[in-house]
Parts: sequence; C-alpha cells; structure tokens
Amino acid sequence: MDVVVVGSVNADLVVKVERRPAPGETVMGSDLDTFPGGKGANQAVAAARLGADVALLARTGTDQYGTRLVAGLAAEGVSVEHVVESEGASGVALITVDADGDNSIIVSPGANARLTPADVAAAADLLGGAAVVSLMLEIPLETVTAAARAARRAVLNASPPRPLPRELLALADPLVVNEHEAAFLLGSEGDPAGMARALLALGPRSVVITLGAEGAVVAESSDAARPVHVDGSPDRVSSGDLPDHASLGPRGASSDSASSDLASGARGPSGRADGVVVTVVPSPVVDAVDTTGAGDAFTGALAWRLALGDTLPEAAALAVKVGAAAVRREGAQSSYPRMEEL
Ligand code: AMP
Repeated sequence: MDVVVVGSVNADLVVKVERRPAPGETVMGSDLDTFPGGKGANQAVAAARLGADVALLARTGTDQYGTRLVAGLAAEGVSVEHVVESEGASGVALITVDADGDNSIIVSPGANARLTPADVAAAADLLGGAAVVSLMLEIPLETVTAAARAARRAVLNASPPRPLPRELLALADPLVVNEHEAAFLLGSEGDPAGMARALLALGPRSVVITLGAEGAVVAESSDAARPVHVDGSPDRVSSGDLPDHASLGPRGASSDSASSDLASGARGPSGRADGVVVTVVPSPVVDAVDTTGAGDAFTGALAWRLALGDTLPEAAALAVKVGAAAVRREGAQSSYPRMEEL
C-alpha cells in the first residue's frame, strides 16, 4: 500500500434551512440529502481518485448506513478489508446549511469511537508495510497515537482540533492544520510563516498549514529539507524570531522521506541559520463553490505524494491543486478530482 488511512467514516446528513432554529424552536428545512463523509474516508477517497493504492482501517455500524458507506468506499477503489463492522450506530454528521451557506455540524461518532489500539495492533503488518499512514482526530486519540507509532511515516491532520499528546505530536511528519487549528494548538494567532515555525517548535517533524485560497505553508528543519523547485515558484520566507525547534523536538531516524542529499542550512535560498526552512505554496485561483472536505482532499493527496517519494514542498504543490479542484464543486468526496483533471 502507498497509504493506509486510520480514521473515521460518517454518513453526512444535510438539510438546508432559511435560518437555524433558536433553542426550543422548530424550523422547516429542505429534503434530507445523505452523503458519504468522515475525514478518514474523505482522505482515502481523495488519494484513491488520484490513483493511490490506499487502504482504510475504520469501524462502521450495523445500522442502515454502515453497509452503504463501505460499498461506496470499495467502489472508489479503497481497500476496505480492514473496515470492521461494529454493533450499533455508524458515525453520523448532522449538518444544517443556512441561506448564507454557513454550516452548523454535530458529529455523532458512533462506531468511530469504537476503533481501538487493538484494531491497530491487529493491522500491524498493514500499517508497517505502508509508506505513509494518514491520520485525523475523529477517532480516539489513543488509537491515533498507536497508529502513528506503528507507521513508517505518519501524516497527522489535527482536525477537528483537540489538545494533542506530546508523543503524538512528535510522530507527525507532517502535522497538517488549517489556520484555526494552528491558532488552537498555539493559543494565539500570527502570520502563517510564524505560526508554522511556532508549531514546528512544539515537536512535530514537519508542519503544513493550509491557508484556504492562499494555498499552504510548509515548515521543516533544514536537515530534513532539500531545495526544490515547486510549481508556481513559491516564495520562500523565513522569520527568525522563534526558537530553533531543532533543539526541542525529537528528530528522527524514522523519516523515510529524508533523503540522503539533504541540504545544509547554509545552501540555497531556503536555508536559514536557525535551521528551519519555510516554503509558501500558492493555490491555483479558482471560483470556490463549496469548501467542504477541502482539507481532507489536501491531506489525502499530500499523503499519497509523500508515499511516492516527493519532498514535502513538492507534495504540498500537488495537494493545493487537489484542494483547489475540490472547492470548485459541491460536496466533499463528490468534489474530489481525478489525476487527469489536474
Ligand atoms: P483549507 O482547509 O480551507 O485551508 O483548504 C485546504 C486546501 O484547499 C487549501 O490549501 C487550498 O489548496 C484549497 N482551497 C481551499 N479554499 C480555497 C479557495 N477558496 N480557492 C482555492 N483553493 C482553496
């Protein structure tokens, strides 16, 4: 496998309303639409559409949604051998979309909450054999951590935002967050490059912050980065006012992506004396229709390209194109592009 996703599978139940009900109030909405979702399933489908060999380790319920969700994933080419049926409800997201297009979402984790470290242990060979294991936070944190430990390389999309155990953070390569999630983890906002550096100082092996229409920013230690030319000639920016993370976080032997022709901090425009390289990867300009699931598409694409041996900025350059394509159409999985569309 290129990528094994360990994560959530949800049925997204969507109703459009003029306005959200106040407490105690009932409002009438549109017909119910049901879509396949869950951040784990979304990542897996995003990668599979691009041509990745991808498997999903997950749990679905014995209700009406479980079988349909698994069949849908299989039809997308995702290997579902390790999707376990679990007595009870499937994960469900109750989504209301108001007249302004704003979403309110309640996630009922259902079977996702029953994905355990024992499930990870039972799939140890699958995880250990994959180039990349891709993770998110809609399953129990101890399961995410167990999967990261078993991975040769763990991509961690820290979404929805929750406090992260240090061990998990230290295994992330990269930690992928949007600006809100970055501010949540840092406890403050800032400019993207500065936030990426500050996140790197918390201990992950590398960091990607997605910036919506602005694309993404990548931060890695210069001993893990080598100068690359990224499509669209991104700016390389650096701010030297944060501590050198290299003395803080574990660095490791386990990064398959760290190639032997590593650049020293002194070489090339991206090297900086503080040992951190920050690369800005701009997104294509598109007419955004619906940003649902764009971050999952980005992460699935990133994981796949890393599995194929891209550097992190190279992988991010493809991932922003996938994210941008995903916002041009309605829905999450339904909006994800195939390689030829890019
Ligand atoms: P976000 O989670 O909103 O930061 O979006 C994830 C990725 O989707 C970004 O890194 C972009 O590649 C893409 N994306 C999101 N919104 C837009 C937009 N309005 N225009 C172009 N690309 C977008």
